[in-house]
Amino acid sequence: MVMTAPQQLTIAEFPERPLQDGEILLRVRLTGVCGTDRHLFWGHGVWAFPIIAGHEILAEVVEVTDGAADAVTVVGGALRNGQRVVLVPSGAPCGRCFYCLNYPHRTTLCRHRVVYGFRRCDEPPHLFGGFAEFVRVQPRSFLFVVPDDLPDERAVLTEPTAVALRAVERAMAPGVPVIGEGLEIGRRALVIGVGTIGLLVVAVLKGMGVHHIIAADTNPMRLAMARAMGATVVVSVPIGEQGMDIALRHLRDCTDGEGADVVFECAGVPAAFALALEGVCRGGTVVEVGHFTDTGTVPLAPHLICRKDLDVRGVWAYPWWQFRDALRFLQTTPVPVETLVTHRLNLSQVADALRGHLGPDALKPVVAP
Ligand SMILES: [Zn+2]
Ligand SMILES: [Zn+2]
Repeated sequence: MVMTAPQQLTIAEFPERPLQDGEILLRVRLTGVCGTDRHLFWGHGVWAFPIIAGHEILAEVVEVTDGAADAVTVVGGALRNGQRVVLVPSGAPCGRCFYCLNYPHRTTLCRHRVVYGFRRCDEPPHLFGGFAEFVRVQPRSFLFVVPDDLPDERAVLTEPTAVALRAVERAMAPGVPVIGEGLEIGRRALVIGVGTIGLLVVAVLKGMGVHHIIAADTNPMRLAMARAMGATVVVSVPIGEQGMDIALRHLRDCTDGEGADVVFECAGVPAAFALALEGVCRGGTVVEVGHFTDTGTVPLAPHLICRKDLDVRGVWAYPWWQFRDALRFLQTTPVPVETLVTHRLNLSQVADALRGHLGPDALKPVVAP
């Protein structure tokens, strides 16, 4: 399924070419449809079309070239035909740019990385996105073997789970030599916006033993899901001008009037960031994870950040090794995370998901090509 321009989708065939040495051919089992794919479809941001979108890829091995053993990093076992794998969207960092030299642990800041699902497909290797039958894995990519006891409906959540784990890690204040800062057991966490990422953040917090998890959203179905993922309190945000004020009053009520120790903004709506600054307690931490795309601005008082002595942290994807932790989490969590997969589509139905035709209760549609 090729996006030739914003809002233009067409099914295209690509001629079968023999693999280059170092490549691996995968057959896609399931690819998750992500909010970022929708922004791509609507033309938010600057992209070079045509693109085969889809970066949450669960696939099986069809062919491995000899050179792939050195060229592709495979974690978790050996590759055999039919082996299920998840593909890390981001390729290896270059190791030479400003960010690789100065921030090597933040691999997604590399200026030269290539990302599956976001690269133009009119030049080789063409098959570089998940909304397709096959993907050609290139040298300098990362594959993780899916454990046999992990069902497809969970494994397809590896990528968004890596985002959620990274967001929670950002709240932990690593390196701060004072116990009592950031996220800990016994703390109060607030998750604003419980779509797929927000729900997975709730599930991860639950798994960590955070005892008070507040979820806020406008959608009652999502709030019910948040409870199933482990939220202890849900706050309905009324739609309309007064909505944020009403929600804020509720939030303060369930945190002794102080606000939450840690707030995760997962809604991807600018107003939600303003709510996060209001809903966090003094000395607390705000993690901004919802805005992978620029959705606009919001008026806010920077004074709040000073007066509350806040830590505000961003999340730009995750380092590639976070897939290891995501797979372990999905393998062991007792929370029914697989219920996040609400729709199973074929390739020609991708447009429905991207246009938002699946309705407000759609969480994670997956495509089975
Ligand atoms: Zn995604
Ligand atoms: Zn680099």
